[in-house]
Order: sequence, then C-alpha cells, then structure tokens
Amino acid sequence: MSARSSMTRRTFLARGATLGACALTAGVCPALLRSAPAQEADIFSGGAPKGRTWDLWRKRGWAREAAHYVRRDGAAECLLCPNHCILEPGDRGRCRNRVNIGGTLYTLAYANPCALHVDPVEKKPLFHFLPGTRTYSLATAGCVLRCLNCQNWEISQRSPEETKDAAGEELRLTPERPGPRSLDEARRATLMPEDLAAIAAALRCPSVSYTYSEPVAFYEYALDSSRAVRARGLRNILVTSAYIREAPLRELARWTDAAHVDLKGFDEAVYLKLNGGALRPVLDALLTLRRAGVWVEIVNLVVPTYTDRMDAIGRMCDWIAEALGPDVPLHFSRCHPAHKLRLAPTPADTLEAARARAREAGLRYVYIGNVPGLKDAATTFCPRCAKAVVVRDVYSLAAIHLEGSACRFCGATIPGVWRS
Ligand code: SF4
Repeated sequence: MSARSSMTRRTFLARGATLGACALTAGVCPALLRSAPAQEADIFSGGAPKGRTWDLWRKRGWAREAAHYVRRDGAAECLLCPNHCILEPGDRGRCRNRVNIGGTLYTLAYANPCALHVDPVEKKPLFHFLPGTRTYSLATAGCVLRCLNCQNWEISQRSPEETKDAAGEELRLTPERPGPRSLDEARRATLMPEDLAAIAAALRCPSVSYTYSEPVAFYEYALDSSRAVRARGLRNILVTSAYIREAPLRELARWTDAAHVDLKGFDEAVYLKLNGGALRPVLDALLTLRRAGVWVEIVNLVVPTYTDRMDAIGRMCDWIAEALGPDVPLHFSRCHPAHKLRLAPTPADTLEAARARAREAGLRYVYIGNVPGLKDAATTFCPRCAKAVVVRDVYSLAAIHLEGSACRFCGATIPGVWRS
C-alpha cells in the first residue's frame, strides 16, 4: 500500500473548509494561524479494503463508523487529528485506520488489538500514578505520526489488515479465555470493550493502558473501552503523542484518569522533520488534558542532533513550568537506534544537563529513563525536605515513604494519584 499526497479535489475541499471558516472573521484568519496542518496529509488513495475483506471486517465487528468527521460532497473530512485527511470514497487516511466507504468514514481498528500485555505502570512510564501496580495494556495497528525513531514501528506503521486476520475462525477473548496462545490465535482474536474491562478486573489490574502504538489512531475503541473500564471501577491511562483535536480529546478525557504524553521536542521544524507532525496541537492538547483534571506526566525523548539542543530543551521546560505548573513530572528519556534513525544512544551527560535545566525552570519532579545504573534517575524527592520518598528499581517499586500523599518525613504533599 503506497501513500500519496492530497489530490486536486481534496485540496479544493480543504481550502474551501478553511476559507468558509475565515469568511466569518475579519482580517487574519485565526484558523490559518493555529489549525493549519504541518503538511498536507499523505493519504492512501484507493487504499480502503474491498469485497470479501471489507465484508469480513464488518461481520467481525472490527469496523465501526468513525466518531469525528463530516460528509462533504461524497468525501469524508476527518476531524479527529490535526492531519485533517479528506478522503474520497475508497481512500484510507494517513493513520491507516480510517477509510471512506460509500461516503461514510469507518475505523478499521475496533476490538482487534495486535498487542496485549500486563505491564508495571512504571513502564509506561507513569511515576505518580498508582505506583507498584500492574496495568492491562493494549494497542491496535496504526498511528497518526511518522516518527523516524519509532520504537514500535512494526505495529504503528502497519494497517489493521497487516496485523489481523478476519478470514480465520474467530476467537473471542473473555475472562475465561483471556489471552491468545499463539500468533495465529492473536491474529484472529476479538476483544470487545466489556470483555477487555472484565479481563483487566480478573487479572487484578487496577488500570487499562491504551499504549504501544497510538490510541488516537484507535480512538473509538479506546473511548468505548474507557467507558466500560470505568463502569468496572478501574482507571484508564492514555500513552499518547497527543496529536488530536480539542473536541475529541475533551470527550476522551472525561474517561481518562492519567496520560503519559510524548512531547517530542520544542521546535516546529524538528517536529515536522522527525515526527511528521506539528508542535502547537500537542501543546494545546496538554492544556486540554490538564483543564480536564487528567493526571499528566510528560516524556521527552532526547534524540541526538534533533532534540538535544539545550536552548530548545530550556524553552520546553519553561513552558511546562509556566503553562502546566511545576508539579507536572517530566521524564527525559535516552534514545536508542530504531526504525529509520540509526544514531548512537543519547549520552548520559546530555540527559543530566537536561534534568538540571528542568530543575532550574522550577520543575520539581524530573526523571531520566533508559539509562540503567544512573543514580537517582527514577527517584522522587520531596521538594520541601529533599528526602527520597519514592524509590524505583527499573520498573519496580523499591520503597515508598508516603502517608497518603504526604511525605513521611516532613508532611509535604507530593502530587499524584497514589492509591486506587
Ligand atoms: S485520524 Fe487518521 S484519517 Fe483522521 S485526520 Fe488523523 S490521520 Fe487522517
């Protein structure tokens, strides 16, 4: 399946939408300034499934009408993420998951996870959210971005049909049959939202994480699952690039308890080159999540020669401290060679300099990830008495010195969600 850029009618429709919005305002159009996509989305022209494949996908319940789009003269204009794909009948969106079939926009990534694991919550990483607990974690294929260094490109840069098989005998996962036993079973497995929630409860996981690839790309499944998970009294975690428009994010945030957000840098040109996206929508999404009361932790992967400039790191830290507050945990993470980027791992010195700059900006909880053996890289210190209050060993909890959410030594409140 090859992608190609937007075509003439699509471009015409996109411009018409923007100009229509602009006609309501005088002078410079704010929509042009704030909402223009970083680039015209590459879509897969004629890439929607056809015939038997489509019939099987629908029959299996793996295709659902998309939640955020408008029909425009036979085309479907997707309003989920800033890529703003406009799909003619038979086209597939940039995320590989959304297709226009007969004028209706469908997601192909429903109830068909291609990855299922039970992880420690610290592995997400989330350090101030239910420490020491396990989280039931899942992903489907597809992603809205194109990170050159993606760690999970084998699923994020694949379509649902490349990871699942609707032609084989169906295997419906339930608490009695919670996991596939082979690759073949995994490819045939269906996991409906209510079953997902029931399995997480049966496995004694207090939370479910939408992770590994990108939950924005499997939005409808994540949303329905989040509702079912809440109904069971469990929590929901988004592990996301936060490349999503405001309205769908506000809807999802109602059911989201914690978000690990990848803030991939602080420079628009680098975001476009390294990740195939734009920075501004991610900052807007972070503000939306905070306003919605979601517990947020930020991860910044420091990529040598791309996002390791200390001036950009400094601007990012200043923005976080000012816009989100000094209590938002920030994790600097070492980059390892992956996918299309073959660079040496980030030097530990660079990560330590970034941590020092973040503390200088006033951030109180700054961590370093992916550097085994680095002292105190994953320790939470009380900002008042400077004692270690949560000590972690790789992905496990080594010691916790909190009473409720208070430091056991001096009584200062340590922000976070410490108990289920
Ligand atoms: S969610 Fe997918 S189809 Fe919709 S705008 Fe984003 S990349 Fe395009």
